[in-house]
Amino acid sequence: MCYHKRIVFLCSHFGWAHEIRPCDTQKAFLDGSQSKECEIMCAHPLQSIRVQANCKACAAKQMKTDTTMCTVKDRLRALTETVARLQKAEEKEAEEELDLDAEAEAEAFLRIAPPV
Ligand SMILES: [Zn+2]
Ligand SMILES: [Zn+2]
Repeated sequence: MCYHKRIVFLCSHFGWAHEIRPCDTQKAFLDGSQSKECEIMCAHPLQSIRVQANCKACAAKQMKTDTTMCTVKDRLRALTETVARLQKAEEKEAEEELDLDAEAEAEAFLRIAPPV
């Protein structure tokens, strides 16, 4: 059984760093007298490293969430732009005749606007 540094991630998952104390099995493997590598890893109690990052799996999940957030942001921005356009159209309306296109757009916007 070898002692390894343990890496504790932000998501509280953990991984293994390089070994800090090879056991006899591992030593024998390293000097070639044994073909099998030691597979038993043990965390050295004083050698846990905390990192301010998520493990690979959680980082991948996080990325997915970020992508979804991006899509929502994009949609929100599109809505904001529509509102800005409508407001501009309203200002124009004061000077000009009723803009039918803007009104149709306003109706379309109100239909797709999600309930808050
Ligand atoms: Zn070992
Ligand atoms: Zn994780």
